[in-house]
Amino acid sequence: MRTPSFTFRARRMAAGLAWAGMLAAGTASAQQPYRGPLFDAHLHYNEEACDFRAACPYPVAEVLAMMQRAGVRAIIANSRTNEGSKVLAASGDATRAAGVTVVPFIRLYRNRADYSGWFADESIHTMVQQELAAGTVAGPYRGLGEFHLYESRNADGPVAAKLMKLAQARGLAVLAHVDDDAIDKLMAHAPQARLIWAHTGIGGAPVARVRELMKRYPLLIGELSYRPGLTEGNGRLSAEWRALFTEFPERFVVGSDTWVNGRWSQYEALMAEARQWLGDLPPATARRIGWDNAARLFGLRDPD
Ligand SMILES: [Zn+2]
Repeated sequence: MRTPSFTFRARRMAAGLAWAGMLAAGTASAQQPYRGPLFDAHLHYNEEACDFRAACPYPVAEVLAMMQRAGVRAIIANSRTNEGSKVLAASGDATRAAGVTVVPFIRLYRNRADYSGWFADESIHTMVQQELAAGTVAGPYRGLGEFHLYESRNADGPVAAKLMKLAQARGLAVLAHVDDDAIDKLMAHAPQARLIWAHTGIGGAPVARVRELMKRYPLLIGELSYRPGLTEGNGRLSAEWRALFTEFPERFVVGSDTWVNGRWSQYEALMAEARQWLGDLPPATARRIGWDNAARLFGLRDPD
């Protein structure tokens, strides 16, 4: 026969075990990676990945297979040269088979030298207009960029201002690798432009400053590759970013930024990392950031 004290201890132990089990279940469910579709909103298919006349370490079939394995169902394609994006856009059978929708952007760079002077180079403006008029096999270009401004004052360069106004007038999105001060300058040129902030400040603009910009510019979208402080050392989402995403669930997107071939070699791991921290968010918020926000920007249907 059990003594009262034994029964009490047993009950207390059972309660303790149940509580530990609940904690374990809670932790386990919070750690499940996001499993829905991904929209890679920052993808380059540059000539180092495939020069169609020479070396091609990452052929179209291979990059599409990587996207398919990573569950990426749409991409913003922006490539140096633009031929990389045009080839992806022209690979309709292959992209359909892989289940990937290509959203082509016009890159402003013909070569590396263009990175540092495009904002005041009229020939870049001319090239953009020619590309816009020509379009791609998959349809019209949907955006401009990625472009870089290493000094925010260059956001007031004549071609930078012109291209922002062009984007606003034509309903094109803009993918801009800039600092937080340049966001204010670019938006001053075209307050109704849909600006995607590449990396949401690769220099690590404080979250309070990102929040301020998100409040000030309702059309500003933050892309999250390379963003310092987004995750903790263990790959989990940091508390301050979780709070920001909870406040602005419709204003962020994910991207791979395959700017060098080393990023292609890590492509599936990069997308798995994104799935991991997205899994720290409520499922509806994860889905918005992983897919819905970018899909809505370009009017894409949900994948099957
Ligand atoms: Zn990039």
